[in-house]
Amino acid sequence: MTLPRLATAWLGGCSGCHMSFLDLDEHLIDLAGMVDLCYSPIMDIKEFPVAVDIALVEGAVANTDHLAQIRLIRSRTRILVAFGDCAVTGNVTALRNLFPLDDVLCRAYRDSDVVAGLPVGGDVPPLLDRVLRIEDVVPVDHFLPGCPPSAAVIFSFLKYLLAGRAPAAEGRRFGS
Ligand code: SF4
Repeated sequence: MTLPRLATAWLGGCSGCHMSFLDLDEHLIDLAGMVDLCYSPIMDIKEFPVAVDIALVEGAVANTDHLAQIRLIRSRTRILVAFGDCAVTGNVTALRNLFPLDDVLCRAYRDSDVVAGLPVGGDVPPLLDRVLRIEDVVPVDHFLPGCPPSAAVIFSFLKYLLAGRAPAAEGRRFGS
């Protein structure tokens, strides 16, 4: 039997949504019998694969790498899920939209002792003028809110989705 191919991806987020995914604990064993996990930050696969059935995408779209990545993910994925509040609304990642981009760059990069000297636009991908929700860039099929969504919610959502019972996105901000 061919299992549905599941991917998880991490854009502009804190990785807390993926930590919550790992909190599935013993349900990860259950999940392993329900899906073929083909791409994830918890795996050592560099390029997002083709023919993905379900992609959980954490984080907002904050820089040019994220922009290219979410477009690639969308083009290779049947069901795209905005995974967590940063993906759904911008949330914490979008707080920088309150400030001029140059102030953000100075505070986070140029004036930072930690990353002083890093060439912005070189090792660091250029930031977009504004942080975007995933649905600002590509169509989203389902929204899984929470900061982060709990492991129980993630597991229930995936079980419903795999059973073909999750709600359609039309007219809805949040799946349930
Ligand atoms: Fe982190 Fe919350 Fe954003 Fe998930 S939704 S990436 S936990 S800040």
